[in-house]
Amino acid sequence: MSEIVYLNGEFMPLEDARIPVLDRGFIFGDGIYEVIPVYSGHPFRLPEHLARFERSHQAIRIANPMSDAEWTRLVRELIARNAGDDQSIYLQVTRGVARRDHAFPKDVKPTVFGMSNLLSTPAREVVDGGVHAITAIDYRWLKCDVKSTSLLGNCLLRQAAADADAIEVVMFRDGFLTEGSSSNVFVVKNGVVLATPKNNLVLPGITYDVVVELARANGLPIEVRPITEAEVRSADEIWVTSSTKEVLAVTSLDEKAVGSGKPGAVFGRMYKLYQDFKSTVMRQAA
Ligand code: PLP
Repeated sequence: MSEIVYLNGEFMPLEDARIPVLDRGFIFGDGIYEVIPVYSGHPFRLPEHLARFERSHQAIRIANPMSDAEWTRLVRELIARNAGDDQSIYLQVTRGVARRDHAFPKDVKPTVFGMSNLLSTPAREVVDGGVHAITAIDYRWLKCDVKSTSLLGNCLLRQAAADADAIEVVMFRDGFLTEGSSSNVFVVKNGVVLATPKNNLVLPGITYDVVVELARANGLPIEVRPITEAEVRSADEIWVTSSTKEVLAVTSLDEKAVGSGKPGAVFGRMYKLYQDFKSTVMRQAA
């Protein structure tokens, strides 16, 4: 089964999809995107992903070209037309095609693109062994709450992690934790889960919300507040969360063991809560 993508109203094989070189997504990175995990054929937290997508449209002043019902139909169609029970659906909207000029063109139609990739959630050995991360100064822009396709900062930072054989980069701005290049970061100290506040310096992760909700619903002490670099460096546990990584324990930071150097007890609890929650939601959707 070849990969089927959606481009501006049509479904087609990936290799047939073309956009003009003057698309502002190509020229300026002038666009936004979403990534939605799909388990056993069911999109996870789709309304929340579409609500964030709508906020991204508003933030960059593109009129959302589709209603939530239309996006939902498109997501379901992409799932049906592509292989795999577990997929990750990627949606992207750019401002459209126009002569190169930084200011917004008038009367252009947004470019709408959707594709599916196979979703491989982290393998058991990765969950049980934990992952390595490095740290870096967060030098990205001041609108990190917008899920923008302008990801050069994130790519440079992630490559620094890849160069160090690390899975992610944990970033600090002005001495405080922000997030990873493509994940949110949680810290555990003395049994308390610490989460960064949602502001313009971090992406409001859908997985972040699930983790905060699960902690609150299951009596895990959690504080949402600014977290200092010193707190991260002396943490008992560090977790990264995202739609494709789910919840992973960082067991070494800048080559120093985090806590015992193994995924901690609180992580173990949250990982199980997350997997159970996923199973329940998917059973209800079936
Ligand atoms: N932060 C950044 C910069 C991201 O790119 C992502 C996801 O790709 C996240 C956080 C996690 O967001 P979500 O849980 O919605 O996947």
